[in-house]
Amino acid sequence: SNEPVDPFKQGWLKGVYNEKPVKEVHTRFPPEPNGYLHIGHAKAITVNFGFAKSYGGVCNLRFDDTNPAKEEERYFTSIKEMVAWLGFEPHKITHSSDDFDRLYDLAEELTRRGKAYVCHCTGEEINRGRGGKEHGPRSVCSHWSRSADDNVEALRAMRDGKFKAGEALLRMKQFLAVKPEEYAASEDDSADVKKEKTRLKSLAENPALWDCAAYRIKSENYHHRTGLKWRIYPTYEYTHCLSDTFEGISHSLCTTEFETLRPAYNWLLEALDFKTPSSEEKGPMQREYGRLNVEGTILSKRRIAMLVGGANVGGTSEPVGDVADELDAVTLEEDGDSPTTVPASEVKHNGSTKERKIPPVVRDWDDPRLFTLVAIRRRGVPPGALKKFVLDQGVTKANSNTMTHNLDSSVRTYLERTVPRLMLVLDPIKVVFENLPDDYLEEREVPFDPKDAAKGTHKIPLTKTIYIDRDDFREVDDPDFFRLAPGKSVGLLYAEHPVRCLSFTKDDSTGVVREIKAEYGSHLTGGKARIHWVGESAAHNSPIRAEARIFNPLFKSTKPNELDWKNGGYYDDVNPESEVIFPNAMLEAGFREIQDRAPWPKEEGEAQGTADVSSVRFQGLRTAYFCMDRDSTEGKVVLNRIVSLKEDAGK
Ligand code: ATP
Ligand code: MG
Ligand code: MG
Repeated sequence: SNEPVDPFKQGWLKGVYNEKPVKEVHTRFPPEPNGYLHIGHAKAITVNFGFAKSYGGVCNLRFDDTNPAKEEERYFTSIKEMVAWLGFEPHKITHSSDDFDRLYDLAEELTRRGKAYVCHCTGEEINRGRGGKEHGPRSVCSHWSRSADDNVEALRAMRDGKFKAGEALLRMKQFLAVKPEEYAASEDDSADVKKEKTRLKSLAENPALWDCAAYRIKSENYHHRTGLKWRIYPTYEYTHCLSDTFEGISHSLCTTEFETLRPAYNWLLEALDFKTPSSEEKGPMQREYGRLNVEGTILSKRRIAMLVGGANVGGTSEPVGDVADELDAVTLEEDGDSPTTVPASEVKHNGSTKERKIPPVVRDWDDPRLFTLVAIRRRGVPPGALKKFVLDQGVTKANSNTMTHNLDSSVRTYLERTVPRLMLVLDPIKVVFENLPDDYLEEREVPFDPKDAAKGTHKIPLTKTIYIDRDDFREVDDPDFFRLAPGKSVGLLYAEHPVRCLSFTKDDSTGVVREIKAEYGSHLTGGKARIHWVGESAAHNSPIRAEARIFNPLFKSTKPNELDWKNGGYYDDVNPESEVIFPNAMLEAGFREIQDRAPWPKEEGEAQGTADVSSVRFQGLRTAYFCMDRDSTEGKVVLNRIVSLKEDAGK
């Protein structure tokens, strides 16, 4: 049939649905509000919202705000905006913190059931107990055997501020005490017993079940939403599966680094009777898809913070930008979110003592050279193009590894037929037609897209003075050059006749060509080439003054993640051409019409009123795709290059 293929009803995603084919599919996108979203999150948003939508279900936007120190209002706002920009509407906007009371009550319940205990070990002692090469076999501490009643009392003491941060931790009583040998197979085991033993053995061997923290005390405990009410905060491992349960999530989709945590996810739900062992019928089902890894740029919050805010490097401390990600023992919250148990005390400081102060490299978090979602939007990438790009990489258990220039080519194809075309002169030279009267005016009717009549037409003035691009002129002719040069003719796009160069003048001091004297008319025979131009006419408000910003890769290296970020080596690799500005560009007046008719293209999301100036997109004929930047003023339009017209086109 001609039905478009629904990517959510194929392959791995279809399999996930079939494992739990419920009528009411309910998913969630659960960002931590501790930074701006990046291109990888576009995959998480598209997968979660898209999956629900495809199966007639709904998706929540959940702020996973269990970590008080890191949260800021601007992140909440920006995350909401980015979800809407991508064309998705959350069924509900929730916060993990909405359920702090319920989460705490369940912690008491878990403790009462003998499935959690308050532990007073240091991070180092906890790590030693978890065993390993340096520490030998794992072992439980003295707090492990405390009675349930005493533990409930100790938990309340934690809650009531009787301990300082680091003095007490609520740990889940998982499999730390269980030796995998206890489940060694024996000859006379039945098939069922064998299966159960294998299951339990693999649980006992999983570090994610070695009595992970459920609650810890925070010294900096001011929370964005609950203020100073809580001194103890729940961990990711404790919170996530419970928030999923409270919200009625059916399919809890996350990235594959959480796969080893799946048994812990189920363990807690089973311990509280929200789920039945070895069954997905009741409660939420966690499944894991591969991350989207994009090479050629930097996505780590900590590193982008260094690019935005500048950095002090090479000293005795770790390099930090304006957001310092803390490493937290026995929880997950390292930048990049790969499950980790590295305690802060084990982080090696580099030995070098030579301090270096590095200035900011980009304007802000939405600098179009970055790959945060705010930056991608500001650069003019249409949300539909980004979603298509993400899905084209495929959604399976495998990570999708791609490069920034692959996004560019995908965007280029997307824009080709969906945005109007205009003439834009980046670096203008004035051309005066000697043979035309001062008030000469030819109004040319020009299509916004020669292959799509539906986009309509507009009128542009051809007058005695026009502007052409410096690139289209040569002071000394060459037989291989087919544009304008002394004595040579060239065609003008959308004009009836060619133009011929008679002479030119240069600026005395700089030697730069200032003006070309030329002629225009039916008596000329032009070359086949046609160049773009903008006519000068006060009556038509033409040209419109513009500043065009051309973006190139931020780093010379195609693998900036491998640069030296500790000692500032990254700074030496910054591409000096990463932003090239044309301050005196000129736009034809048709721009005002396409500005009024934006968004281009008309897309879900943007068409529903989430569009900002970046949705004013067009193809500059023979130049590149551009969009309007938020720095635009009444007197000057600022343009961002979205992508070049062709791959590897210099500017
Ligand atoms: P980072 O540390 O890279 O900024 P994060 O994992 O800390 O990202 P969260 O706010 O926790 O950011 O992410 C919200 C959701 O987005 C999580 O479910 C996470 O798995 C998912 N996600 C994050 N990065 C990617 C990626 N590169 N590809 C796909 N999904 C991702
Ligand atoms: Mg993270
Ligand atoms: Mg996270």
